[in-house]
Amino acid sequence: MPASDLVNLSGLMDDAKCFAFVRQHRWPDGARCPGCGGSSVIRDGCDDTQAHRQRYRCKACAGRFDDLTGTVLAGHHQPLRVWVLCLHCMGLNLSNRQIAGELGLAVSDVQAMTEQPRHGLVVKCQR
Ligand SMILES: [Zn+2]
Repeated sequence: MPASDLVNLSGLMDDAKCFAFVRQHRWPDGARCPGCGGSSVIRDGCDDTQAHRQRYRCKACAGRFDDLTGTVLAGHHQPLRVWVLCLHCMGLNLSNRQIAGELGLAVSDVQAMTEQPRHGLVVKCQR
């Protein structure tokens, strides 16, 4: 796909697809508790402000988490779709400078976003 199509891609993507992408990326075999690693989790509604951000409750440790808990995506100021496009570009082996150009971001912003995901989307649990 030519990189110039990415701008159009951004317009086509909605939050539901972005969260689906994140879920698929971090939990290819289904959601797991970031606290204890258990797979007995139940859906527990959605985020109050982001309707497609699924919340979960762990049956084993009663921990609560959501799609972005424990990822570098949590609490970042960039919209999720920018992250997803950024990850997509990284998959195409574009440089930070190229990604910045395609997505209309500052190179320093892209650098901050790509630094951690190159080592994996999910950061170590802080507990
Ligand atoms: Zn748990």
